[in-house]
Amino acid sequence: MKLVIDPGHGGTDTGAVGNGLQEKNLTLQIAKRVRDIISANYEVDVKMTRETDVYISLSERTSIANSFGADYFISIHINAGGGTGYEDYIYSGLSDSSFAAGKQQTVHNAVVSVLPKYSLPDRGRKKADYAVLRETAMDAILCETAFIDSSDANLLQNPQFIEDMSQAYARGVAEAMGLNKQPNPTPQPAGPIGIANILGTNINLRTGPSTSSTVIRKLNSPESYLVYAENNGWLDLGAGQWVYCDPSYIEYLKYGNPDGSPIGVVDILGNNINLRTGPSTSAAVIRKLNSPESYLAYAYKDGWFDLGTSQWVYYDRAYIKYKQNSK
Ligand SMILES: [Zn+2]
Repeated sequence: MKLVIDPGHGGTDTGAVGNGLQEKNLTLQIAKRVRDIISANYEVDVKMTRETDVYISLSERTSIANSFGADYFISIHINAGGGTGYEDYIYSGLSDSSFAAGKQQTVHNAVVSVLPKYSLPDRGRKKADYAVLRETAMDAILCETAFIDSSDANLLQNPQFIEDMSQAYARGVAEAMGLNKQPNPTPQPAGPIGIANILGTNINLRTGPSTSSTVIRKLNSPESYLVYAENNGWLDLGAGQWVYCDPSYIEYLKYGNPDGSPIGVVDILGNNINLRTGPSTSAAVIRKLNSPESYLAYAYKDGWFDLGTSQWVYYDRAYIKYKQNSK
């Protein structure tokens, strides 16, 4: 089975912009991750319409898919216009009983299963006369991941949201295409172990955990990446791309240590800060924290620190200062 993944926009065509984000970069980031997940887990031949930041026309995108003889086509976009939520499209000329509509339902179900975690609304399954849907010879879907110019942008900057959406796209497309599981799945990198927030500019991203490794590109604030491994003070940002974890320019929020040792120290800068029984504002308040208290942190999850024995505080830089333990 053959799949084409189409990251919307690229090059001089930035797509929608908002909150310091450009659609073309987000679509490429998600599309590459979907490709990696689906290739590692299923028997499928995947082609991307682009793998770098280049401009390609809509007709080039559909000719790539048509000449490849794809069985399915997914175009990934980010929405704009000030709304909120997720929606997907098939060609407006198709009936609700078409194969494309059935596949849309399958992909849609997979994606909307992750939305409640982020309180993101389901805007539904839709139809439109978009060129990439109309001109593709195979069943096709176009997904609008969230809005770049509303508060959804916070999610688009959350690496865990990008990962969850990419996993959902891969799962949904695999199910829609009826792909067979890989008999011997390619060893995937284990799940992410933390988040690296880039605080500085011109930080070298290298091919290995050493200053003698080749520089791939530069990292700049406010970029943010999932971390997949550590080696001698270096962090693997996935696919063998390493950055040195210097706290002066990298904030490393580690999900936890296997031996249960602390990941860092939390200093309380404000007053009346809620300490809760779980990483959520709906979890019960245990007590209030006040400056100048200071606590060991044992885990980080979805924006919250675990201060031990399931006592959680939200990481708002306005009233929390975090110091990661150095290796
Ligand atoms: Zn778009």
